Amino acid sequence: MKRTGWWEIFGMEGFLKIFEYHKKDLAGIYGEFPEYKSFDGIIKVEFDRWKNSDEESVKKLDKIIKQRKGKLNLDDWIVCMQSHGIPADLISEIVKAPIPQNLYYEIAMRQERTAKATETILYNTTHLKETDNLFYKDHTLMEFDATILDVYKNVLQKDIPNLMILDQSAVYPTSGGQQHDNATVTVEGVDEPFKVIDAVKVGKVVLHTLDRPLEGDFKGKRVNVTIDPIRRKQLQAHHTGTHIIFASCRKVLGPHVWQNGAKKTTEVAHLDITHYQSLSKEEERAIENAANRIINQCTDIHKSFMDKAEAEKEYGFHLYQGGVVPGNQLRVVNIEGVDTEACCGTHADNTAEVGWIKLIKTQRISDGIVRLYYVAFERAIDVMNGEMDIMNQLCDTWGVDQTQILPTAIRFFNEYKKLSTVTKKQDQQILNLQVKYVINAGGDTKFHFVKSE
Ligand SMILES: [Zn+2]
Repeated sequence: MKRTGWWEIFGMEGFLKIFEYHKKDLAGIYGEFPEYKSFDGIIKVEFDRWKNSDEESVKKLDKIIKQRKGKLNLDDWIVCMQSHGIPADLISEIVKAPIPQNLYYEIAMRQERTAKATETILYNTTHLKETDNLFYKDHTLMEFDATILDVYKNVLQKDIPNLMILDQSAVYPTSGGQQHDNATVTVEGVDEPFKVIDAVKVGKVVLHTLDRPLEGDFKGKRVNVTIDPIRRKQLQAHHTGTHIIFASCRKVLGPHVWQNGAKKTTEVAHLDITHYQSLSKEEERAIENAANRIINQCTDIHKSFMDKAEAEKEYGFHLYQGGVVPGNQLRVVNIEGVDTEACCGTHADNTAEVGWIKLIKTQRISDGIVRLYYVAFERAIDVMNGEMDIMNQLCDTWGVDQTQILPTAIRFFNEYKKLSTVTKKQDQQILNLQVKYVINAGGDTKFHFVKSE
């Protein structure tokens, strides 16, 4: 539009109108385009960003062109586009060269290669029977008996045999961004119990890392396992809280929000969402409030295995917030009327179990991605207590009650500013007097100068 001069004719209003026509036109193929409240906002923000970054991008591009003596290779094009965000059209205009024919093909190929890079598998578990994950049937099960299938040497810990594989386990292994459970294991024939300090899934098998080696032949021996319930409850609350925060983001910001990643530890949880700009304080507050209202509604959370095609038909691709799930079966987690996702973590049965969500901070971590940090359940109580402690200490130190903290702080700050202006003025006056004194005293400067100080 810039090149053809149409922008001058249409302006932003006309530009948005074009999208309206597109929506109407495409409705013939894809069906009616639903109300999309963030649509115009996204277009405007992207337009401003494009307009403002134009000048800066050109500077970066000029530098690269100079380094390459006027000729860009395919890598340079890709770096300019992906690292500096310069559109191919603009590069072409500045370099005065056509867009390379294989440019978009090469970008797609590279993206595919990155996506396909898999992590190194350290242990072969293909010959073992799939671990029966008891937490899917009953996530409240905190104690169970099982049989040892094998004990592997830990290649990351000088080959000590401390990786225990069981026929069944309720220990949740680190996956889907949720940290593993800890547990205590009593092994048949060994007096002192072991601790499970890590659990990972390799293939279809869960590897339980023990706190010390399990020497000897233990294949076929029975074990009794007790899961640390406090840790599990906290992780479960952070996980369930993530579904709630995600639903709140969509409610407050709009349906363009998709999950881009998440992590849940016992300390804190974070969720990355697709969003076109940093969140304002008002938006943060609205998301936190929406989340706590969902908790207060005491909504039931249903978990069930569903046929993939059937689940997609019922809930759409919106299910795949945590990425596409392999296989024909999906574990569908449905918070009634709030959020439905394919997810394999441990969840509460009712939103009330999350207790409270406290949003800590948000951060724009890259173009189009915003990260939200929050705590729930007992950690929310810790954080809120910590904030209250600061308030109480301020009240004690300043001798005021809570309502007077802000006016007192403002008064202190203003007085400090006034005082520093006065001090500066006085310093100047002293200096002026000293200079005057020195001039009047004629030659005998040293004595008088010291005296005046
Ligand atoms: Zn989940």
